[in-house]
Amino acid sequence: MTCFAQVRKRPLNKKELAKNEEDIIETLSNSLVVHETKLKVDLTEYMEKHEFVFDAVLNEEVSNDEVYRETVEPIVPIIFQRTKATCFAYGQTGSGKTYTMKPLPLKASRDILRLMHHTYRNQGFHLFVSFFEIYGGKLYDLLSDRKKLCMREDGKQQVCIVGLQEFRVSDVETIKELIEKGNATRSTGTTGANEESSRSHAILQLAIKRSVDGKESKPPRVVGKLSFIDLAGSERGADTTDTDKQTRMEGAEINKSLLALKECIRALDNDQGHIPFRGSKLTEVLRDSFMGNSRTVMISCISPSSGSCEHTLNTLRYADRVKSLSKGGNSKKDDLSSTMNLKESTAQPLSSVLPTASTFEDDINNTWPDQNERDDFNVPEDSFEQEILMWKKNGKLDQYGFSTAVENKLRKPNGQTKWKEPIRSDIKHSKSDDDLNALLQEEEDLVNAHRKQVEETMNIVKEEMNLLVEADQPGNQLDDYISRLTTILSQKAAGITQLQTRLANFQRRLKEHNVLVSSSGY
Ligand code: ADP
Ligand code: MG
Repeated sequence: MTCFAQVRKRPLNKKELAKNEEDIIETLSNSLVVHETKLKVDLTEYMEKHEFVFDAVLNEEVSNDEVYRETVEPIVPIIFQRTKATCFAYGQTGSGKTYTMKPLPLKASRDILRLMHHTYRNQGFHLFVSFFEIYGGKLYDLLSDRKKLCMREDGKQQVCIVGLQEFRVSDVETIKELIEKGNATRSTGTTGANEESSRSHAILQLAIKRSVDGKESKPPRVVGKLSFIDLAGSERGADTTDTDKQTRMEGAEINKSLLALKECIRALDNDQGHIPFRGSKLTEVLRDSFMGNSRTVMISCISPSSGSCEHTLNTLRYADRVKSLSKGGNSKKDDLSSTMNLKESTAQPLSSVLPTASTFEDDINNTWPDQNERDDFNVPEDSFEQEILMWKKNGKLDQYGFSTAVENKLRKPNGQTKWKEPIRSDIKHSKSDDDLNALLQEEEDLVNAHRKQVEETMNIVKEEMNLLVEADQPGNQLDDYISRLTTILSQKAAGITQLQTRLANFQRRLKEHNVLVSSSGY
């Protein structure tokens, strides 16, 4: 199976324009760049660019007609040839999933009927429509007043949704009415259409069946199927921390199904023996669509605004994971020369550029090694210095606030004189005043560094939680888990070590200041 990954960017809406939000998505024919504004430690802004490559990138000027022509039209003929095709819309609530998916089934039906009435005339093909949703892990029939449905697996591992209404249709008008009925059922009884629909997956299936030996007496057999899936809002998965129990459980369920879906597509694309269908209701229901000859199209919808940046990046990373592995695989170029994306950058572990723990201990104990003791450093000074210069040039050090610690290491010989400066007993008052001011400044720096470290820790914890959720999923990729955990742990260790160094330096300064004050008669 191959997954065709597309991204669709919607235009800025009125609300975003009113808030003066910027369009941060730059699109090219099959790649796009997200311009993320970030803050440095000193609160100055800088731009981080993230580049992604997909099979197709549809910008805000692309119409629904063009989306159909690009995405679905080419796969319509193959569903007459024993192929199942599935088209997903993925993305945060409000990114345009429903807007994108809604017109597709009707357009496809029109083409299917055309083929049936011309190319495949009198060959016993019939078209069937069904429409249901998965909400909180349960199935509801959207063409039968939201009747609750059960799923069963027969001896041949064929999944069957018991009681699901399937309508045999032969004209476009009837299909249109059915689709409208289903859409209306989906959003009834709720405050806003998006409120409810963002918590459910809506699945519309067009099945092509053929009467066996042309006999109408026997039930027709499925030849091919075309499914359209308007997925639950991807941000819902993050709702697992919500205080409301219902919302939290829904969030967990959605998270589970979206992760399971990703794993299934990856496993299928990889021709892995075991496909983790049982990971969620969604993937169980789709099992037959994924087996045999199958095609998948994932349309990832993104909002262009700066306010949605984080969700957009999450959507693009998800899409990047499901995109076909066979086509060169590594086509993603999250721009590492201008960013230090710790999550992705496993090529150069932080530990290789930061001073090692033993170096920091030296700092803490204030025992600078002599020139001839230099060999004690784990990293040869030259290459280390060069790396620092390179990192500085790329703005990587400042971004993570490591520059001071690293610069201290580079300034060791001078640092020695600074700290070992003999304290003269005939010192003047002004000197101790200056010293006090410097000390206060250093205290403030320490508190700021601490604050920054807490912020970073929180981001790391968020990422760890995501990693754990993913690790719990069936079919989880162990290599990926290990490398991400390794990166996370060294990131955490580096943060703590840096703060410890700062604290120790400050304590020593404090002690010196007290000596200074008492020796000058205060
Ligand atoms: P979702 O289903 O992902 O929650 P919707 O499809 O409901 O999002 O889209 C949210 C709003 O944005 C709707 O008002 C919709 O009409 C509008 N919209 C989405 N995509 C586009 C687009 N490509 N062009 C114009 N308007 C769009
Ligand atoms: Mg929607």
